[in-house]
Amino acid sequence: MRKKVTVVGAGNVGANCALRIAGKELADVVLVDVIEGVPQGKGLDILQSGPVEGYDVDITGANDYEPTANSDIVVITAGFPRKPGMSRDDLLLANHEVVKTATEQAVKHSPNCILILVTNPLDAMCWTAFQVSKFSKNRVIGMAGILDTARFRTFIAKELDVSMENVTAMVLGGHGDTMVPLARLTSVSGIPLPELLDQAAIDRLVDRARNGGAEIVKYLKTGSAYYAPSAAAVEMVESILKDKKKVLPCAAYLDGEYGIKGLFVGVPVKLGSRGIEKIYEIKLNADEQAALNKSAAAVQELIEVLKPKLA
Ligand code: NAD
Repeated sequence: MRKKVTVVGAGNVGANCALRIAGKELADVVLVDVIEGVPQGKGLDILQSGPVEGYDVDITGANDYEPTANSDIVVITAGFPRKPGMSRDDLLLANHEVVKTATEQAVKHSPNCILILVTNPLDAMCWTAFQVSKFSKNRVIGMAGILDTARFRTFIAKELDVSMENVTAMVLGGHGDTMVPLARLTSVSGIPLPELLDQAAIDRLVDRARNGGAEIVKYLKTGSAYYAPSAAAVEMVESILKDKKKVLPCAAYLDGEYGIKGLFVGVPVKLGSRGIEKIYEIKLNADEQAALNKSAAAVQELIEVLKPKLA
């Protein structure tokens, strides 16, 4: 029997997730959105690419959660994206309500699913889904680090004129202005980045990666990025459904790792059929730990705003 993935939110990120899942024949997909007709129409359109692209999975759309029953994974992309001048944190209260409802419904119909969060502000929305679902911590995972590292990898590859595939990178921390790209643990086919670029060039690329989302929002004006974000979310879906056990930077619930407790923060994890199967604790130097603490404190601030809403 084929696997089943629900994607909540049939907007830019959600529809592209559905398209990529279908293209890789990973699972049947149910798209859910509050706007009548949109998930149905986009679902049918993606389905009709099947004969041309050669995939045999079912894509359907719905405005309720009945058809999502017994999904293996629910990807939550529902909510508002940023507009120019907005930070991800400006979306906090509106998207908290959206994610709360989506989680309640998803969990009611798919009590054994794994939840992948995409909605911003990402780390806080993971916390909302974790509290509402009451799932174990391995089954609530946030997508941010794969995207942030993909941006960093892209800029490094362009700078050095090498294949993107050869660049591996590490970004820790929350998905925001305080994210912590680790140049020391970034390499080109094993060659450490500091041996290939001077500090000024590394700082320039780190800065561009950190502001990579805002750079695109500024161009688009009416929303935020979605091609790379959907690719990143689907890499997580694939690693889980195929039990590939990829080691990827994801937002995970920390329970003392890195000295952080009770928060979702981006760290390297192993993703397999049980969701997060391991959190890797890298030894950080003092500057890196301080940057991670600062990033965690920014996430904590958002959680403090949400706590009374879930009391
Ligand atoms: P979008 O506006 O294109 O799509 C959002 C969709 O959610 C809309 O179709 C809307 O109708 C739907 N929606 C709203 N409330 C809903 C509800 N209660 N139930 C179901 N659907 C609902 O936005 P987008 O570009 O697809 O972005 C979606 C979210 O993902 C935003 O919050 C954005 O900031 C976030 N995002 C996160 C990352 C990341 O790295 N984590 C990257 C890109 C985008």
